[in-house]
Amino acid sequence: MIDPAGPDYRVGIGTDIHPLVPDRPLILGGVSIPFPAGLLGHSDGDVVIHAVIDALLGAAAMGDIGTLFPDTDPQYKDADSKALLLDVRGRIGAKGWQVVNLDVVVQLERPRLEPFKGQIRRSLAGLLDMDFAAVNVKAKTAEGLDAVGQGHAIAAMAIVLLARRPRKPI
Ligand code: MG
Repeated sequence: MIDPAGPDYRVGIGTDIHPLVPDRPLILGGVSIPFPAGLLGHSDGDVVIHAVIDALLGAAAMGDIGTLFPDTDPQYKDADSKALLLDVRGRIGAKGWQVVNLDVVVQLERPRLEPFKGQIRRSLAGLLDMDFAAVNVKAKTAEGLDAVGQGHAIAAMAIVLLARRPRKPI
């Protein structure tokens, strides 16, 4: 039974994929990762932050990253995705939403993400003003299959829970 005076909860999902090409910085979740290749994109290509942004916008029913920050707009060329996430955090906060938790899957063949997971969690928690314990980052390979598995791309998926209270004024 849903308590009409209880918090309003919304989940959202986001995904992204960018080509992995030589001589680009590799930035995942706002963290620079030493690697000879990076993600190609109109912005800095941070697939993790892009997936998180779409999860947040999805949960709040506020559209998607492509509508908010069009890749045809020169303003967003080489944009720092951290700034885009802070912008979205502001928009969601203005509607009264707080992020309860965030879970991220990064799909990549290389580099090994294990040494950077803590840094990425801290970065995302900081950007979203969340407890470190409410942010999780997982890495999966694609077992040599598809573009990710062949090392031609890195993809990310994110799911987020938002809460706003109360459900109705009491
Ligand atoms: Mg993207």
